[in-house]
Amino acid sequence: MLAKLWDTVKGKGNPMFWPEADRALLATGLLIFCNLFFAFFLVLGSFLPGLSEFSSMPDFRTLFLYATGSALFWTGFGGWVKTRFCARDPNATLPGILLIYIACFSLMVFAYFNGVHSFTSGALLTVFLAFAFVLFQTNHVLIVMLLAWLQLTVITLGVTFGWWPDAPLFADRPALRALSPVWALVQVAIGFSATVLMLLFIRQLVGALRESERQVRALSRIDPLTGLWNRGYLDELTMRGIHNAIRNRRPVSMLVVDLDHFKKINDEHGHSLGDQALIAAAHAVQASVREVDYVARFGGEEFVVLLPDCDTPEAKQVAERCREAVAHLEIVGEKGQVPLTASIGIATAWPPFINADDLFRRADSSLYQAKEGGRNRVVAGTDAPGSADRGVR
Ligand code: GH3
Ligand code: MG
Ligand code: MG
Repeated sequence: MLAKLWDTVKGKGNPMFWPEADRALLATGLLIFCNLFFAFFLVLGSFLPGLSEFSSMPDFRTLFLYATGSALFWTGFGGWVKTRFCARDPNATLPGILLIYIACFSLMVFAYFNGVHSFTSGALLTVFLAFAFVLFQTNHVLIVMLLAWLQLTVITLGVTFGWWPDAPLFADRPALRALSPVWALVQVAIGFSATVLMLLFIRQLVGALRESERQVRALSRIDPLTGLWNRGYLDELTMRGIHNAIRNRRPVSMLVVDLDHFKKINDEHGHSLGDQALIAAAHAVQASVREVDYVARFGGEEFVVLLPDCDTPEAKQVAERCREAVAHLEIVGEKGQVPLTASIGIATAWPPFINADDLFRRADSSLYQAKEGGRNRVVAGTDAPGSADRGVR
């Protein structure tokens, strides 16, 4: 648990993805810490000038006993969760649910004795609910919130109508709070430090969640074998490239790169070496294009390169660089050098008539001609907008 928590602090794991029981155990640990922290503050506060009489008062002892008693209770609760649930039934929701109801009730007891109008009571309630929202089931947290409001209303009504005393911890010393700014400072210090601690933790959790979401999104766009963009993301990139081309009134070109006789390479040298050749070719193409170009694995041994702001002569130069880079790759298998070449089809479109399907269809048709023409070559179609490919080499 501590190792996992340390990972969270380092931004690696995220308790939001932990099993329910582990999350409850974590929250229990925080409750123990907060209560001990509270007890420590009370001891510290008793040494502060202006509170020295307070330290000998039964109020202080009651609060101190309350805090240490709570810490003990939560230690027992944590032990129960660890032995009964964490190992045997980690997805049980019971520990988390019990925890938020008991914690809310004990918070209300504290709020009653300490005074519902105190800064600490308000701060602890706010941060407790925020924390619970992040870690536990939202519907239960909503019920707990409603219960907390109900309890606060009843306590406030009771105080207002004199059914019970306001902040009974101070009932026999009503002037203490009014006279002691130090006491007010201690209250604010407890509430503030607990709030900051919990909010920092929540921030860490939500930040880690966003980061893993970002990673998932990034991974969903990448082809795992070559590390190039995948076909799904290519569609998005193409739409964006065409949109920009139309807006800037600039041309956009597309290359379709297909490795030659790749099936034969697989057959003769094995699939694993085929994979290596595919990766090497992907890197060679990527290294031959400009910073602004996008290279995607369209499928199998076929890549698509999107060249924004690029007319046919420029696209031919880029394609020729790609072709040469692949042809110069030295891939050696057990049966000797693997001959690797690529055929490349080019299409260019000018605004305003740019259509993604048409652009690809024309580039693919050029590729077909490159294959027909003997492979290891570049063929460009004419770049009239939306025109059919005329197969000009
Ligand atoms: P052509 O010159 O006409 O393109 O011939 P080709 O053999 O390259 O074309 P074909 O479409 O017949 O075969 C493509 C081969 O690419 C078949 C398939 O086994 C191989 N291939 C597709 N994806 C992968 C892959 O991820 N790894 C490996 N090693 N081979 C792959
Ligand atoms: Mg091929
Ligand atoms: Mg192919």
